Amino acid sequence: MGTGIAGLYVALRCRELGLRPTLITKARLEEANTRYAQGGIAAAVGADDSPALHLQDTLRAGAGLVDRAAAKALTYEAPARIADLVRYGVPFDTIEGQVALGREAAHSRARILHAGGDATGLSIEETLKARVMDAGIEVRESTALRGLRSEGREGMVALVSSDRGKHVEETGPGPVVLATGGAGSLYRQSSNPSIATGEGVAIAFRAGALLTDMEFIQFHPTVFWREGAPRYLITEAVRGEGAVLRNEAGERFLVGQHRDSELAPRDIVSRAVEREILRTGHPCVYLDATAIPRDRFFARFPSICRFLATYGLDPSRDWIPVTPVAHYMMGGVTTDLEGRTTLRGLYAAGEVASTGVHGANRLASNSLLEGLVFGERVARQLVHPVAASIPLPGRMVRLDWASGAGKGDLARSFEQVRDLLWENVGILRNGTNLRAALEELSALGRSVEPNDATSVPGPVANAVLTASLIARAALTRTESRGAHYRSDFPARRPVWRRHIGIVRKPPTGRRR
Ligand SMILES: Cc1cc2nc3c(=O)[nH]c(=O)nc-3n(C[C@H](O)[C@H](O)[C@H](O)COP(=O)(O)OP(=O)(O)OC[C@H]3O[C@@H](n4cnc5c(N)ncnc54)[C@H](O)[C@@H]3O)c2cc1C
Repeated sequence: MGTGIAGLYVALRCRELGLRPTLITKARLEEANTRYAQGGIAAAVGADDSPALHLQDTLRAGAGLVDRAAAKALTYEAPARIADLVRYGVPFDTIEGQVALGREAAHSRARILHAGGDATGLSIEETLKARVMDAGIEVRESTALRGLRSEGREGMVALVSSDRGKHVEETGPGPVVLATGGAGSLYRQSSNPSIATGEGVAIAFRAGALLTDMEFIQFHPTVFWREGAPRYLITEAVRGEGAVLRNEAGERFLVGQHRDSELAPRDIVSRAVEREILRTGHPCVYLDATAIPRDRFFARFPSICRFLATYGLDPSRDWIPVTPVAHYMMGGVTTDLEGRTTLRGLYAAGEVASTGVHGANRLASNSLLEGLVFGERVARQLVHPVAASIPLPGRMVRLDWASGAGKGDLARSFEQVRDLLWENVGILRNGTNLRAALEELSALGRSVEPNDATSVPGPVANAVLTASLIARAALTRTESRGAHYRSDFPARRPVWRRHIGIVRKPPTGRRR
């Protein structure tokens, strides 16, 4: 389910291993977060680098909550997965015959492979799409996953619909791989395309799957700001090349806040930018890339240059106005190292999965990689199952989610969700705002959930539910760690060096 890097790669590898997968996506095949990834994909392939260093950086960024075994798999298997992409034909950029490696925040080495300068995601998406076509894999576009039901020993039945739920079709029973991506566009300000509404999380939760780390939403600090303009990402790699952040007065406000200044981990830079915006009352800060030679900037970031040109900006001369926005979902559907969820026959890979590799703060450019590494493990597991088990989280929350009136205004409710998350469950959080958001989301849920327990909930009901899961986890975590910052609990607390899991209270009525 899903045709971003995780779904495409799992399908390709399953086909190569002798299975006959079907790919299902609610949008067009190529419309996925993957397409918009700019910076690149991390792997220790440089002469001065090693998987051990990549692992160390991943552990450090995750603020004490990274699962070491999962991160070890991620970093040590990265070079082999890059070799797969090369085999499929992804044209990574090179310099004098050697792979070109960029540097991004919190990486101790230059280890970011990129393609087409800043069009890495597009290049990967198009290449994998072409290989999926070559392999004759069946693809069903404009067909949304609407529900899941366990059946038999290893079987999962997927309920899918291509007409907004009027007719629901059942696939299987058989294994289902969730690769439905993240939830960034549930926030009013977001770098994500509109498909990213976290539906996979809500659907898995309804079916009874365990979720973890839902409170950890990563905010990207540098997205283009202009009234009415799209929220276009200016990749971290621009700072890796030497750009710095300035406020309206020209001051480098990050200097002195962290030893790595603008290359500090994302959560630190995002909060610093948000505070600077609140302090000055100016709606943005500025990325100053004027010290980077013009030719180098244009060769490395051609898409960004084209985008800025439409607003009359030239990065070798003009500062770029930027603001932080919601970007990435670190938690999701809990999996073991083989991509298995707590439901038999249900697997998850990519951003929808909570594999444990990101902890409280994802290291830049580790997410495309996660889709590949755990996508490979899912494919192998489907062919040659091995025993594994899911580590249970330190703190478990059981959430009740009941049928509703089914009469709410769907379009309005969706916009309310986006405002509520941005205002109350955003970069700087506190208990009062989180409680208020949860109450409003519960009321929204009661109005948009179907009124009989056998109907299949639609996208807005799923949006409200995923938002509630984020808010509930954020309220439960009474400390600040990584991307989760609470002004009423500003310190990291040792007692909270544990994960928060959320499962559904067993439903009273039958729900598909
Ligand atoms: C602007 C931007 C820049 C980024 N830059 C980088 C970067 O440089 N490096 C990096 O590593 N990461 C980057 N990321 C993050 C990275 O792109 C994503 O985490 C990754 O692409 C997720 O891949 P995925 O396959 O899990 O999901 P996606 O690529 O989001 O694909 C999800 C798929 O699921 C489908 N889907 C969703 N719901 C349903 C449903 N109910 N039924 C059926 N189908 C459904 C969607 O239509 C889509 O096909 C960036 C993200 C953005 C938005």
